Amino acid sequence: MFHHDGEPTLGPADLKNHKTRFYMNTDHISDKTMEANCKVNDEICLPDSFSPRVVIIGGGFAGLALVEGLKMKDVQVVLIDRNNFHQFQPLFYQVATSGLEPDSIVFPFRKQIKGYKNVSFRLAEVEEIKCASNIVITDKGSLSYDYLVLATGTKTNFFGMEHVERNGLGMKSIRDSLNIRHMMLQNLEQATITCDDEERDALTNFVIVGGGPAGVEMAGALAEFCKYILPKDYPEYPHTIMNIYLVEASGELLATMSDKASAKTLKYLKDLNVQVLMKESVSDYNGSVVRTNTGRTILAKNLIWTAGVTGQLPKGINKESIIRGNRLTTDQYLKVKGYNNVYAIGDIAGIIAKDSPQGHPQVAQVAIQQGSHLSKILLNTMAGKPSKHFEYKDKGALATVGKRRAVADLGKLKFAGYFAWLLWSIVHLMSISGFRNKILVGLNWAVSYFSYEKSNRVIIRNFKPGRFANMPSKSTDIKETSSKPKINA
Ligand SMILES: Cc1cc2nc3c(=O)[nH]c(=O)nc-3n(C[C@H](O)[C@H](O)[C@H](O)COP(=O)(O)OP(=O)(O)OC[C@H]3O[C@@H](n4cnc5c(N)ncnc54)[C@H](O)[C@@H]3O)c2cc1C
Repeated sequence: MFHHDGEPTLGPADLKNHKTRFYMNTDHISDKTMEANCKVNDEICLPDSFSPRVVIIGGGFAGLALVEGLKMKDVQVVLIDRNNFHQFQPLFYQVATSGLEPDSIVFPFRKQIKGYKNVSFRLAEVEEIKCASNIVITDKGSLSYDYLVLATGTKTNFFGMEHVERNGLGMKSIRDSLNIRHMMLQNLEQATITCDDEERDALTNFVIVGGGPAGVEMAGALAEFCKYILPKDYPEYPHTIMNIYLVEASGELLATMSDKASAKTLKYLKDLNVQVLMKESVSDYNGSVVRTNTGRTILAKNLIWTAGVTGQLPKGINKESIIRGNRLTTDQYLKVKGYNNVYAIGDIAGIIAKDSPQGHPQVAQVAIQQGSHLSKILLNTMAGKPSKHFEYKDKGALATVGKRRAVADLGKLKFAGYFAWLLWSIVHLMSISGFRNKILVGLNWAVSYFSYEKSNRVIIRNFKPGRFANMPSKSTDIKETSSKPKINA
């Protein structure tokens, strides 16, 4: 039993008595029980339940897989997220380049949990966790838990480069993707207005930082935009006007994939006229000029940063439980070290074991498998049964570089080209939540396959870069719009 801030803690023994919580409607609990057991007053209203309560923070791949595993079981599940929708991050780059509309890759939690009688969703931002008293504090009020699961994922890591963060854009939310889209469309329009050649160059040059899957896929999609869309939409430009740079600090692209995939990706990008700058890193950016560590300067008003992520954690977790990358160190049963009833899954979790000395890769498959496995662990724990430890089954990796070109590493089978791209398309289509979204994306891809035509490229909000552009939280949107109405309106 832990006493992090001097408060008595509910340990596993207390958890067996599931009537320890103070319920919104307390008529059915006798005064004696109340007196004996009432520890916490939930400020967030939830249905009455005598089942143990599992609070899940974050409805990403990991959180949703856990919800699926706990649905219709004798457990009260409360899913909290700052957004009311799940985001399909692997296709953010297609929204950013106007290939897909945002609502086709996000899915409302309320639709996801429809019919799941034991699951509630609450739209709130978790600010702090008081593990000693089993309470979660959100911007909408507090609530108690018997088991807490952190599935909060990661946010963009600019590695402390303030100017880059202020003037560039990350790609870690649907909001970021829309910011990129609007930045791009506004700058292309402005480029038709300006008579200054240098400014026009800066407006039409794009620098993508980071040669991982997100950077590579973004570079490929932008290059195709330049090749097929630009001449149609902006006939006044020569199609060579748009320069795309991909900057990668290491010596290879897609470093987590095979050498073959890495080399093929480089070839594909070069074929699409992307200028790949290897062993070079961005050191500064003032909004118009990108500087790299080699002394190179690139005129560009478009900088997209995909070079790193860091765990996003609410306050209240012991420092000893946080490891490199701001991840939570968990044992092989996904329990956060130093806690009895706090678990972590997905990108935020780091199981440091023999087969994963740096923690598992921060990819969707790991998140889904951990969420699903944790549902079994929790149900077993509640039933007093032992559980198997988590073992990651690597199903392989895929990445695409524009249309009809992709690389695939499936165990010993490594291939590239059209079939890899077909496989990439099928896997992604099947993974998107919701039948309607699958149809929307499928139709969009089918039209674009034959015509290269993409979604309507309309500017429906005025994007201004600046220090608010990269803030992940929903509550900062509110502060931002009330004080600065024009930013991201
Ligand atoms: C651009 C891009 C492309 C990618 N491409 C691929 C790919 O092709 N293949 C692949 O396998 N992986 C890919 N990934 C990685 C993959 O998306 C992640 O590994 C996966 O999303 C992790 O899932 P998660 O559930 O841990 O976290 P997330 O999916 O990030 O979900 C975290 C959730 O927690 C919520 N949240 C966070 N903090 C709070 C808080 N304080 N209060 C309330 N809610 C909170 C967030 O709103 C979010 O809904 C990509 C990622 C990016 C950014």
